[in-house]
Amino acid sequence: MKLWEQNIRKVKPYVPGLQPKEDNIIKLNTNENPYPPAPGVERVMEQMKLDKLRLYPDYDSTELVNELAKEKRVDPEQIFIGVGSDDVLGMAFLTYFNSDKPVLFPDITYSFYDVWCELYKIPYERPMLDENFRIVKQDYYKENGGVVIANPNAPTSICESTEFIRDILEHNQDVVVIVDEAYVDFGGASSIDLLKEYDNLLVVQTFSKSRSLAGLRIGYAIGNKELIEALNIVKFSYNSYTMNTASIVLGAEAVRDKEYFQNTVNQIIEQREKTIQELDELGFTCLDSKANFVFATHKSVPAGKIYEELQKKKIYVRYFNKPRINNFLRITIGTEEEMNQLIIALGEIL
Ligand code: PMP
Repeated sequence: MKLWEQNIRKVKPYVPGLQPKEDNIIKLNTNENPYPPAPGVERVMEQMKLDKLRLYPDYDSTELVNELAKEKRVDPEQIFIGVGSDDVLGMAFLTYFNSDKPVLFPDITYSFYDVWCELYKIPYERPMLDENFRIVKQDYYKENGGVVIANPNAPTSICESTEFIRDILEHNQDVVVIVDEAYVDFGGASSIDLLKEYDNLLVVQTFSKSRSLAGLRIGYAIGNKELIEALNIVKFSYNSYTMNTASIVLGAEAVRDKEYFQNTVNQIIEQREKTIQELDELGFTCLDSKANFVFATHKSVPAGKIYEELQKKKIYVRYFNKPRINNFLRITIGTEEEMNQLIIALGEIL
């Protein structure tokens, strides 16, 4: 090995779900929204002046921050914007987790958390979910360097109550507690109301799922002003212009259209419940989902086999070949037509 090679940072990166290049596929593998973004987003996009791109973007994302502050009933100083919630979470790990005590998050959760810990050399521990894939709150009562809870959790889809999160906060008042609410709009309980009581809470949400804007890359954190200021200091020490001009104005427009947002979210919830029923009839068991995906296991056919067979039929779902979850499929809720095709294909495979 050459000397310079020894100094290269070695990390095992997060592996995102496949983004196949072929046409005519049914893509249920990365929890994107099957509906288009709000109609206003298209209108604003068409009216956007190309000349605007000559200039650097607004490094404070003011228009988007103000729109979100109104929507979430918080002060603009309580909002931090990033390039998807991945950027926000990565920045939050870098900002808040600087002790030698381990940061705690479940063994089965969003698999980017341990990647950021490795990248930034943050010690961490992963208490096991119980046999029903529920978080054991007592595991979070010990001394630690921070807590991260995805709620609803991924890939399990299970959402814990606000009281559950309150309990975690009660037992962790000396560290930052991050609640990753990427999927909360699909029927989960948000912890935003707890912000008034706990100044060490950071709630992270995204435009990628419920707002149909995964391609724009917009995520945000809500927390008390000091927490947000600390995030901004780190951001401005790294890259001032994370958010591009198009994302700022189009994102703001997406927030304005509340009716479209609610309608599409409701359609996905309705379709989810129907899918769970249909999967049940095919011999699957799904965990109790409050997300835009289900986590399903079949009583006799291995998940890995079903995954492969679905792919042959150009239907993409997510399969994690990892301990405890290697007999589950994570299936994103698509349109009614897509889900009908999935159920037909599964019937044939089984
Ligand atoms: N948190 C969780 C739990 C997720 O599943 C995802 C999606 N991969 C993210 C955060 C990141 O989403 P985004 O960067 O698109 O906002």
